[in-house]
Amino acid sequence: MDNSVILSEIYKVSSELYEDMVDRMPDKGHTKIFSYLTRLGKVLVNADRASFWKWDKKAHVLWTTSATDADTIVIPDNKGLVAKALRNGDLLMTNDPYSDPDFNPEVDKKTGYVTRSVLTMPISNIKGEYIGAYQVINKLDEGGFTKEDSQKLSLAAVICGLALESDVFLDESYTDKLTGLKNRMGFYSDLGWKYDPFIKDKSRTLSLFICDIDHFKSVNDTFGHNTGDEVLKVMADILSDSCDTGCGVYRWGGEEFIMIMPDADAEQCAQKAELVRMRAENTICKVGDAEIRFTVSFGITEYNKNRTVADNIGAADKNLYIAKETGRNRVVS
Ligand code: GH3
Ligand code: MG
Ligand code: MG
Repeated sequence: MDNSVILSEIYKVSSELYEDMVDRMPDKGHTKIFSYLTRLGKVLVNADRASFWKWDKKAHVLWTTSATDADTIVIPDNKGLVAKALRNGDLLMTNDPYSDPDFNPEVDKKTGYVTRSVLTMPISNIKGEYIGAYQVINKLDEGGFTKEDSQKLSLAAVICGLALESDVFLDESYTDKLTGLKNRMGFYSDLGWKYDPFIKDKSRTLSLFICDIDHFKSVNDTFGHNTGDEVLKVMADILSDSCDTGCGVYRWGGEEFIMIMPDADAEQCAQKAELVRMRAENTICKVGDAEIRFTVSFGITEYNKNRTVADNIGAADKNLYIAKETGRNRVVS
């Protein structure tokens, strides 16, 4: 393909990506960015397909949502060209993949596609740790991939690496390590986009409860801090389990959690809180030989759109305080 054609294609992809980014696309977020960047790599080297693989080192898998014309594919990280490129930190180029012992034909088998040429480029974060790989498949021009293609592809690879790094970083900073729930930062982030339409739209409601484990200090004092941690995890599981689609659960801090419920009024929110309260009350936490029971207090508020976020949390907190003052293990609206 002519260089000027490639260049105009690059401008097209990058301007579309830019437009989407400034137009905010937080619900689609990085998945969408990666699909643009995958297209960019495809255009850069005139390949039939491109895929961007993220390396989940804990789960020992490589996965992609951005392989062009394919759904999410998950493959083990111990076989195949991407795995090899990541293991050795090498750029791999083959124009005869089926005779390459490292080529994993599984994806072809699954999708019915025939791979003729492959260029695989490992991607690192800013510290030089490998975090994923970029792969382009089937050069559309005569002949296979060349060294020049790998140089061109490095442009997309660098941007993808940085995007992936920020994706991982954001995910981690919005997640509470102990419980796996979103944390306070995650709450504010979600409020800014996910629940924003419910706040802006006068005809819709939004409610939330804040809850706090009763006498949690004595759980720590009696059974130790590690056991306290286990109780927090159990409480997080009860909340996640009780959380309906579209609603969100957050660790607000310490032994306090928030559930936010769009399209729910205070009464519906209180019903949900009551359900969670009963589940907590009826749960026995087994940690080693210890069997721990615990109760939880709840404060409800229907989101007042004329007040700040802090004021709304404050309103729920006030009700939580009343629940504590009037005997704990109860829901106050
Ligand atoms: P109340 O019923 O009034 O809420 O009493 P409480 O004992 O639950 O409240 P208090 O605020 O006195 O104590 C909260 C305790 O939660 C103190 C703190 O050490 C503990 N805590 C906060 N975060 C964690 C954590 O991550 N793990 C563990 N194990 N304990 C935590
Ligand atoms: Mg507390
Ligand atoms: Mg407490």
